[in-house]
Amino acid sequence: MSADALFQTFARAGLAFERGEGVWLYTAEGDAYLDMMGGVAVNALGHAHPALTEALSAQAHKLWHVSNVFRIPEQEALAEKLAGLTFADRVFFCNSGAEAMECAIKTARRWHFVNGRPERTRIITFEGAFHGRTLATLAAGGQQKYLEGFGEKAPGFDQVPFGDHEAVRAAIGPETAAILVEPIQGEGGVRPVPVQCLKGLRELCDEHGLLLIFDEVQTGVGRTGKFFAHEWSGVTPDIMGVAKGIGGGFPLGACLATEDAAKGMTPGSHGSTFGGNLLAMAVASKVVDIVADPAFLEAVRGRGLKLKQKLAALVDTYPTVFAGVRGEGLLVGLKCVVPSADVAAAFRAQKLLCVGAGDNVVRFLPALTVSDAEIDEAVARAEKAAVELSRVGEKGAAA
Ligand SMILES: *Cc1c(COP(=O)(O)O)cnc(C)c1O
Repeated sequence: MSADALFQTFARAGLAFERGEGVWLYTAEGDAYLDMMGGVAVNALGHAHPALTEALSAQAHKLWHVSNVFRIPEQEALAEKLAGLTFADRVFFCNSGAEAMECAIKTARRWHFVNGRPERTRIITFEGAFHGRTLATLAAGGQQKYLEGFGEKAPGFDQVPFGDHEAVRAAIGPETAAILVEPIQGEGGVRPVPVQCLKGLRELCDEHGLLLIFDEVQTGVGRTGKFFAHEWSGVTPDIMGVAKGIGGGFPLGACLATEDAAKGMTPGSHGSTFGGNLLAMAVASKVVDIVADPAFLEAVRGRGLKLKQKLAALVDTYPTVFAGVRGEGLLVGLKCVVPSADVAAAFRAQKLLCVGAGDNVVRFLPALTVSDAEIDEAVARAEKAAVELSRVGEKGAAA
């Protein structure tokens, strides 16, 4: 078997897995890998969580898909659940993070449209952001390497430097509709937006009649030890995109909004064939029940703290390999001195799976259920890799 029949869009590691359990992945040969990347923040409850496999198979025997032409009580129930747990009053279900952000962008523009300000279409975003791979979300992310060769960049996005409040203020004009930000940049290298900045963005939006959009596709659903990362700041958005962890591995995205912010999204204004599919609803409903439990979130904060502390000790011991640790809860970035791709590969050689990010960072995004012993094991494996990497560094210095 080879990957020749696939689009060659991914630089894949030469590894494949047959089954998983919790934070463990097994190859067909039976090799066990410690999965500290959780499908890039998707497998919120680990692999093959019994409550999720049960919810999925029970639903699979009843009904998979009906059209959004009909009422779907399971959608209504999950939307009510999410509204009850967040700032939001309304939810649109889709299938991915990029689609959730597309809906967020459309919702913001449409709000101004129905308010008699159709010229307000522009959205302010930040350097280093990642909002997805559709043409609009690529333009929102503004990363040249992803835009190249795909034609004219979708109009309507103004990008400012990360954390530059004055640049945001200066970018606001008569056509500005919204400000879009990840509370912690994930792909950008686990870069948290300081609480003061989020507060400042909220104030700017209120002052200028703009909508505040949070992209919590990566940071949401318990990842940072709060149900949503913005809860750390006390700042609430008007619109928010969610995906990744909410389906626990089943594809699902959602756009959440206040009743006011969603008021332009009238019948016929938006849609999705698969969005809110019954299988997705069954799994996500279970994920939300488990993750939103305050005791569960407290445990995530404890595990995150432990992981960060242990990694910080590793940074102290191997300063030629690692430069620092950052992030919140179980969204942890290990800033590297040596190329992060080399670190991820050295980890893989120790059967430890992590994933790279921008700014020369390697991310730890394990299942939120990871145990203390598994964290110890992960850091022990990371240390073995660090020993190897620092030896290579010494040889390089001697040569
Ligand atoms: C992953 C991600 C997306 C895109 O999600 P897809 O499901 O790949 O479309 C958007 N925003 C953020 C912050 C992400 O981490």
